[in-house]
Amino acid sequence: MKSSEDTHYLKGQLQWLMFFRVLVATFFFGIATVAQLRRSESYVTTHLVYLYALTGSAFVLTFIYAFILPYVRRFVLFAYVQITADVFFVTALLFITGGINSIFSFLYSISIISASICLFISGGLFAATAASCLYAGLLILQQYNIITPLHIGAFTATGYEDVRLMYPIVINVAAFYMVAVLSSFLTEQARKSRQQLQRKQIALDQLEALNEKIIQHIPSGLLTLDQFRRIITFNRAAQDITGCTFDTAYMKDVDVIFPGISSAGDASSSPATGMFFPTDFELSFIRQDGRSLLLGFSGSSIKDSANEEIGTILTFQDLTDFREMQEHIKRVDRLAAVGRLAAGIAHEVRNPLASISGSIQVLQKSLQLNAADTRLMDIIIRESKNLSSMISDFTQYARAEAQGKESILLKTIADEVVALFNNSAECKNACSIKQQIPETITVTANRQQIKQVLWNLILNAAQAMTVKSGTIILTAAVVQHGFEPAALKNHIPEPAAKSPIMSWVEVKIADDGCGIKKSEIGSIFDPFFTTKDTGIGLGLAIVYKIIQEHNGTIAVESQEGCGAIFTLVLPDTSPAQ
Ligand code: ADP
Repeated sequence: MKSSEDTHYLKGQLQWLMFFRVLVATFFFGIATVAQLRRSESYVTTHLVYLYALTGSAFVLTFIYAFILPYVRRFVLFAYVQITADVFFVTALLFITGGINSIFSFLYSISIISASICLFISGGLFAATAASCLYAGLLILQQYNIITPLHIGAFTATGYEDVRLMYPIVINVAAFYMVAVLSSFLTEQARKSRQQLQRKQIALDQLEALNEKIIQHIPSGLLTLDQFRRIITFNRAAQDITGCTFDTAYMKDVDVIFPGISSAGDASSSPATGMFFPTDFELSFIRQDGRSLLLGFSGSSIKDSANEEIGTILTFQDLTDFREMQEHIKRVDRLAAVGRLAAGIAHEVRNPLASISGSIQVLQKSLQLNAADTRLMDIIIRESKNLSSMISDFTQYARAEAQGKESILLKTIADEVVALFNNSAECKNACSIKQQIPETITVTANRQQIKQVLWNLILNAAQAMTVKSGTIILTAAVVQHGFEPAALKNHIPEPAAKSPIMSWVEVKIADDGCGIKKSEIGSIFDPFFTTKDTGIGLGLAIVYKIIQEHNGTIAVESQEGCGAIFTLVLPDTSPAQ
């Protein structure tokens, strides 16, 4: 026996052998008892006492084996001892039950089989040899009347002639060896099959573990559904993306965990059972922590060998960041295109407009005009000014490059803008502005452009007021890099290695105005998008471009009827505290 596995096997077989021995001993004890009950007192004391003694010693010996088994180190030797003892027991039984006439010589075969099972061919041949020697010895000694077997019941030892004695010996010895070879062959086969099975089981276990690892470690969310659309697999990425644990999702209907997934899946692809999902589809998902995600799903069905649908496999990814990034890039492209257009318009229109307005002013001074003509001239001059200011907007938008940057105190700028706004026609006392910006916050920026940003955002907030007593709240705080608001994270440029940005200034402009419709929120930063009768739709586009030029970013949160919060971040250049 080589490995601990073999030792374990042998130990198990020895336990079975002990159990079986107890059974056989009990059987013979039963025979002896029945015989005693049917015979006279004197007969019993003569012969049955040996049978009692034999079964008793088999019990005792087995008890001793069982007791020392936990302390045994050399199991092979222990097995040989037991097998030898068993062969002696059988010989003793034969001696008691009539020697050559005993019907119990088959018990040798049982000992040989048990030896083969425990110790394979070597054990089998050893037991067969021992049985052959003891059996032949018993018969020869009996034949020559050196020993006289005991007789029990109907068994009577009569002896044979020399030649006839050879028959039972040869036949039995041949049978012993045949049993040894055959039983060890079968045991060997059984052992090989068991080992093969074990190897296959190990390979299967490893394959299962590998599959499990692959499923758990793929970066995409993966879930499988049974035919009743219940979730049976929910890998780690799926748990991370959705925030749902496996225990929560297991055996739940997929619609419970992903509300609306059935309708998001194309109904045309699920004609009969509704089990199929289309190859690709998208689904809006709200996590328990309130974060709203856009998930991109791929579905395929699982079929059994008979090509029957037995489930569905769905993989999904969080497309939220990717989609936001796409939107951002699109917007930047659009802004660049409009910028070029604006520069062209400004160039082509501004000079002729200046000539028109200058000429009119000269004419106004040199001509003797009546009151009506003067009014008309004034209209021309005023409208030219308006047109010129609109072109300035375009130009400003086109040139929203952050030139002339200086270190500015944010609070000072905000104070100026708020004061200007409170005294402007746009305010009309329709709202009050609360400004809570710490004194120390500074940003390195173009003063005029930052003023423009605050002005545009405050103006929009005031224009969104539906009630007279609306309030605009202006706040600012410093946030460490990595702790920016989630909505902004994807747009914040990575800090350059040379001058790493450790913190950001986060400015919020919140109002309790009409809010923005969900369908419009994605377009408000686009140039020329406006919902106002007199709006041009450049205010937020300018803000967006300026902030971008300052290596910052801006986002909006709003619900229709519940106001809006514009949040922008700029690199923090406040002196260290
Ligand atoms: P304009 O003010 O000329 O319309 P903007 O680019 O400044 O152009 O704004 C675009 C649109 O965004 C507005 O027409 C309005 O619908 C929406 N908007 C901007 N700010 C707010 C706000 N604070 N509340 C509600 N809607 C807003």
